[in-house]
Amino acid sequence: MKNKKISERVERIKPSATLRISGIAKELKAKGEDVIDMSVGEPDFNTPENIINAGIKAMKEGKTKYAPTKGVPELIEAIVEKLRKDNGIKAEDENVIVTSGAKYAVYEAMMAILNKGDEVVLLDPSWVSYEACALLADAKPIWVAYYEDFRDAPIEEYISKKTKLIVINSPNNPLGIVYSKEFLKKIRDLALDYDIFVMSDEIYEKIIFEGEHHSIASFDDMFERTITINGFSKTYAMTGWRLGYAVAPEWIIKEMNKIQSHSISSPTTFVQYAGIEALKGDQSFVKRMVSEFKRRRDFLIDEFSEMDLEFAPPEGAFYIFVNVEMNSEKFCQEFLERYHVATTPGTAFGRQFNNWVRVSYATSFENIKEMIERFKKFRKREKNLFRLS
Ligand code: PMP
Ligand code: GLU
Repeated sequence: MKNKKISERVERIKPSATLRISGIAKELKAKGEDVIDMSVGEPDFNTPENIINAGIKAMKEGKTKYAPTKGVPELIEAIVEKLRKDNGIKAEDENVIVTSGAKYAVYEAMMAILNKGDEVVLLDPSWVSYEACALLADAKPIWVAYYEDFRDAPIEEYISKKTKLIVINSPNNPLGIVYSKEFLKKIRDLALDYDIFVMSDEIYEKIIFEGEHHSIASFDDMFERTITINGFSKTYAMTGWRLGYAVAPEWIIKEMNKIQSHSISSPTTFVQYAGIEALKGDQSFVKRMVSEFKRRRDFLIDEFSEMDLEFAPPEGAFYIFVNVEMNSEKFCQEFLERYHVATTPGTAFGRQFNNWVRVSYATSFENIKEMIERFKKFRKREKNLFRLS
C-alpha cells in the first residue's frame, strides 16, 4: 500500500520510555545476558496466593463472559467501601468506573474532558503517560518548571485562562515524594479559584515510608472537580492483570463509560473477582512488601549519599531519582550496553531533568547491591575518560 499516512494524533507521541527500555532489558536477558532491570516500575513480588485463587475460582465458576461495561457491581461496591474507609472520599457506585489498568483510566478521563486548546498542567518531572494522553486528547501540556523544593511546585505561575486540568501524583513517580496536606490545599484553592479539574493519581498510596497520604477528592468542594485514579498493579503486585479504576462525578464517569463501551467493552471479568479479594482479603502482604521496599530504599539512600550524589528524598513508591551529572540518555544507554543495568533517563519524565535518572528498586536486594557495584565502576571509568580528554 502506498498511502501510509498515520494520524496527526499518533504522530505527536512516542512509545512509553519505561516499557520500551524494559523491553530491551528483557531481550538481552533472553539472550542469556546478566541484565539487572531497574527501569520499569513493577513490583518484583508475585501476586498473593489468595488473589490468584480468587481469579481461578471465578474462572471455574464461569465468570468468563462479558461483564457490565463499567465493571462488576460487587467490585464497584468494594471500591466505594475502600474509598470511604481509606480515603475519606464519599463516592457512590455511580462515581466509579473499573478499567483495564490505571493507565487506561488516565486515558479515558483525558479523552472525556479535554478539547483542542485546553491546557493540562503537569509537574516536571511527571510519570511518562500523562503528557502522551493529554496529547492524544488534543490538549496542550504545560510543564511547571524546576523548583528548589520538590514538594512545593509553583503551579500558580502556570495557570492561564485555558487551564482545564492539573495532574498530581502522590506518592510520586519518579520523585518518590509524598505531598503534604498544605501543598494539596494550595492546589485545591487554585482549582476552586480558577474553576479547574484535578486528576489525582494515587496508585502508590499504600507504598509509603514517611509522611501520610491525603486524597484531594476528600477536601471540601473538591469531589465535583476531581478525578481520582487508582489501581491494583502496585499495591497487590498485579501489573499483568490489568486492573484499575477512576472515581469522579457521575457525568464524567458516564462519558468515560461511553469510550469504554466502544473500546475494551469492559475489563476482564474474572480479573475483577480477583480485585474484590485484593480489596477485601488479608492485607498482610502489602505490609511485608512495603517493609522490603523500605529496606532497599534505605540502602540506596546510604550508597548515593556516600557517592555524594544529589537525589530527591524518596518517601514512597519504589523509585529514586538521582542526578548522575551527565546526559541521562547517554548514561542510560552506556549503563545498559556496557554494564547491563537498565534505568530510565530523566528526559522521559519532562523537560528539565536531563542529567537525572530514575532507578526503580522493585528488584531484589542482591540485584540492587550489584547495580551499585556496576555504577561505581561506570563512574570511575567516566572520571578517567574525563581526565584523559
Ligand atoms: N500511574 C502511575 C504514576 C504509574 O507509575 C503507573 C505505572 N504503570 C500507572 C499509573 C499505571 O498503572 P497500571 O496501568 O499498571 O494500573
Ligand atoms: N508505571 C511504571 C513505570 O513508570 C510501569 C510502566 C508504565 O506503565 O509506564 O515504570
